[in-house]
Amino acid sequence: MAVDDTSNVDAGRDFIRDIVQADLESGRHRSVVTRFPPEPNGYLHIGHAKSIGLNFGIAEEFGGHCHLRFDDTNPVKEEQEYIDAIEADVRWLGYDWGPHLYHASDYFEQLYEWAELLIRAGKAYVDDQSQEEIRTNRGTLTEPGRNSPFRERSVEENLDLFRRMRAGEFPNGARVLRAKIDMASGNINLRDPVLYRILHATHPRTGDAWKIYPSYDYAHGQSDAIEHVTHSICTLEFEDHRPLYDWFIENLPVPSRPRQYEFARLNLSYTILSKRVLTRLVQDGHVSGWDDPRMPTLAGLRRRGVPPSALRDFVRRIGVAKANSVVDVQMLDFAIRETLNRSALRRMAVLKPLRVVIENYPEGRTEELEAANHPDDAGAGTRRIRFGREIFIEQDDFMENPPKKFFRLSPGAEVRLRYAYFITCREVKKNAEGEVVELRCSYDPATRGGNAPDGRKVKATIHWVSAQDAVSAEVRLYNPLFTRPDPDAANFSSELNPNSLEVLSDAKLEPAIVADNAAGPAQFERLGYFVRDRDSTPGRPVFSRTIGLRDTWAKVSAGG
Ligand code: ATP
Ligand code: MG
Repeated sequence: MAVDDTSNVDAGRDFIRDIVQADLESGRHRSVVTRFPPEPNGYLHIGHAKSIGLNFGIAEEFGGHCHLRFDDTNPVKEEQEYIDAIEADVRWLGYDWGPHLYHASDYFEQLYEWAELLIRAGKAYVDDQSQEEIRTNRGTLTEPGRNSPFRERSVEENLDLFRRMRAGEFPNGARVLRAKIDMASGNINLRDPVLYRILHATHPRTGDAWKIYPSYDYAHGQSDAIEHVTHSICTLEFEDHRPLYDWFIENLPVPSRPRQYEFARLNLSYTILSKRVLTRLVQDGHVSGWDDPRMPTLAGLRRRGVPPSALRDFVRRIGVAKANSVVDVQMLDFAIRETLNRSALRRMAVLKPLRVVIENYPEGRTEELEAANHPDDAGAGTRRIRFGREIFIEQDDFMENPPKKFFRLSPGAEVRLRYAYFITCREVKKNAEGEVVELRCSYDPATRGGNAPDGRKVKATIHWVSAQDAVSAEVRLYNPLFTRPDPDAANFSSELNPNSLEVLSDAKLEPAIVADNAAGPAQFERLGYFVRDRDSTPGRPVFSRTIGLRDTWAKVSAGG
């Protein structure tokens, strides 16, 4: 798969929307019905956001409906926690299924009746072969399969056995119900696919009522048909299942005839979008939970401070294609930055503090300075920030022996403190280990607000927080979970990035950040976008970096 910048796709127009439009124009359908059909065996991830955006988006644009249907056919892996999380995540993304909330389990009785119908028509049979035998007798891509020795059972025997399967007379795996199609078919999906398996398990909705459960292939299309779904949109791996999808629709008295269309799933660089792997990351403790901000889950992205509008925007930009590709994760970062740049209030915080004492600033004096909340939005207003004799600056903004192009603070150098004064470094204090622990500086009172009346320039503007007011906080920085752009799902644990989480335990925040109580992230000037995490306690705020700023260096050199 090639890494592919799909930003050239005409956003809002794609082959599926073209099909829908043509079907409406030709009168094949009077209105469009789509569905988003998650299996509640994990949390939704950003790949699902693509499918949600497509299904709900089409329904919205063409005045139809999109159903939320839980594909709850495997009680062994499915849980109420996942059902609740999926509903919350779809809502958070900004979509509404209205009254159209369904479950494949709503149709278990109907699906069962249709299975009996297939048996009576000689189109399904109970097979006593073991799972292993079924697998070996299925054949390969180049060799046909072998008929089961149980394939020619009488209708009566099949009905009797199938009813006893339902009644719970047999243990797990003892028998299955299969469609009788063609063991020599070139399409392996048509080699007598399994319709029902025996599973003694408690289902989140139907409890212990059922001892047999339908397969995905058998449940899916019929559920679509029952709901009068017009366009059943799924990912490319189901393309080979489409003949089977159609076989059921043709051989059963279903109330409508949905059609299946396939599109390319979302793959993102440095990311694995597989619920199996994401479940392992959680269960093996590689992350703190499904909503760990490093996870590509919607819950993780939400906790990281990513606005839902940025995800909708991202999904629109990547478009919908028929060939698999990998989207550069920077496209996602770009969409997040763009959204936050517009909405986030600007604040000052120091992540790795270095104390600065301004020697010629009178002891005990403080003053308030005015700072803009948003450079491009005067309506966002201003705030007062306190300045005093002691402040914190970023350790990285000072170098004792700077290289030529380093314009920030160094012995003898002058810089601008954002919204405040010019300061010059006079003296460097070190501890016994030789580490810089404090700078002694002087300020020029004539530069209040950040400009010199004599017109002299400085090459850098740095941020700061007054030591008197600063609120100490924990700040968490996140890096990609995987070290390689194309992590291998089969081997993911050896490709985990050991530095995906960096915790800074003594960051200094201007008080407004903590007082804001804002739902969304703020921009910490020159650092990125940060959001309060739910691990915060009253005495100990915790902030997470949603995303960094693109080009910190350029901004600094340009003088902010
Ligand atoms: P996984 O393979 O991670 O287990 P899944 O496809 O089995 O995911 P489902 O709950 O069945 O998960 O997915 C619900 C819907 O979301 C399906 O229609 C599926 O095609 C779609 N979907 C899943 N992953 C992606 C993806 N990466 N990109 C686009 N659509 C996706
Ligand atoms: Mg699936």
